[in-house]
Amino acid sequence: MAKKEALIWNEEFETMPRPELEKLQLERLKKQVAYVSERVPFYKKLYADAGVSADDIKSLEDITKLPFTVKQNLRDHYPFGMYAVPMSEIKQIHATSGTTGKMTVTCYTENDMGVWAETMARVYTSAGTTSNDMVHNAYGYGLFTGGLGFHLGARTIGAAVVPVSGGLTKRQITIMQDFGTTVLVATPSYTLVLAEAAEEMGVDVKDLKLRIGILGAEPWTPEMREEIEEKLGIEAYDIYGLAEIIGPGVSVECPYHCGMHIPEDHFIAEIIDPHTGEPLGYDTPGELVFTTLTKEGLPLIRYRTRGRTMLHAEKCECGRTMVRMEKVRGRTDDMLVVRGVNVFPSQIEHVLLSFDAVEPQYMIYVDRAKDKLDTLEVHVEASDELFAQGAEQIQEVEKKIAKSMQETLVVGAKIKVVEPKSIERSMGKARRIIDKREVGF
Ligand code: ZN
Repeated sequence: MAKKEALIWNEEFETMPRPELEKLQLERLKKQVAYVSERVPFYKKLYADAGVSADDIKSLEDITKLPFTVKQNLRDHYPFGMYAVPMSEIKQIHATSGTTGKMTVTCYTENDMGVWAETMARVYTSAGTTSNDMVHNAYGYGLFTGGLGFHLGARTIGAAVVPVSGGLTKRQITIMQDFGTTVLVATPSYTLVLAEAAEEMGVDVKDLKLRIGILGAEPWTPEMREEIEEKLGIEAYDIYGLAEIIGPGVSVECPYHCGMHIPEDHFIAEIIDPHTGEPLGYDTPGELVFTTLTKEGLPLIRYRTRGRTMLHAEKCECGRTMVRMEKVRGRTDDMLVVRGVNVFPSQIEHVLLSFDAVEPQYMIYVDRAKDKLDTLEVHVEASDELFAQGAEQIQEVEKKIAKSMQETLVVGAKIKVVEPKSIERSMGKARRIIDKREVGF
């Protein structure tokens, strides 16, 4: 492959020889395990029950002695029960939607904000962004970590950031045109919406100064990447993040586009067999598991992401020694990502069950519409009583469910109340989701 210009934000850590890096990881892991055991009752009990302590961590492989943590642990301790510091030390709080309306609440101490700023600075730099760039940030600002995370990173590298957030698409094009924005950060699906709006407005993308897109927070295909790169005249960089771990900043592509580098001085990544929990090592697909090494507010040890992917450890042409993860190809549970928002089928079920006029027989359809935005449609069976009342009553119920669904899921869903007994019954495990989008490779 031809040599490319590869900028690196933090040479010392990002190109650290692996033996040295592993030494640092071990040191930090021991410290982090001792820290949570002392400060978080959940971990104290977890490790006491498993009969392990920080003293048992003598090599990096000893991480496998520690039990896993899962999203349900965070839900059980909603909202702040797994925090390791008093609220006076928390400086920023974010949240993602979760099942039955319960959110996952994540937090940052001053030092955690520093770690986030550092990992996001690495993201921007890896994608070739410098202080000479102007960043158009179309990720949503708010509880979602996307907007503020990308904002923080742009500020850290000294770029000018335009906090556009989502919506008012045509105005976004005007801004890019008039301001001369050079870097676009957004979800891939919204990026395509922007590209189409530009086309509609008769804007020649060659007149835009855009050169880079840092895109993620949802599944997207290589075909979509090609379309985006061609339509907007940019080089697209894939990014991965997880609110529980840090938000965006968990990994990003370099100019060689051979997977996403993980800042391993801050996070240990493992791949495990989702059924047995056994570690699988490099170059083998399995479930991605993260351990935070430097977090103070909400450290997570061996946190199961439910995402399926693979890790590669050979040194990259860009000079980084940090492992690369492939795009997440589906999940080991049934969480859906719709327009960048996590949606659990159980949330949908919960809303439906709160309406007596419908039966607990439903089907969820996810698709990507012509305008490139994900669509979510829920079909649910009417009760015999509602069905007998006729179309007008049914429409009324559809509206009410749609409103409640929007409040719970954050993303809108089209609700269709259908005839009783019209949804196909399956003999085994009910199939309730039909996802027509092409996801992953
Ligand atoms: Zn690289």
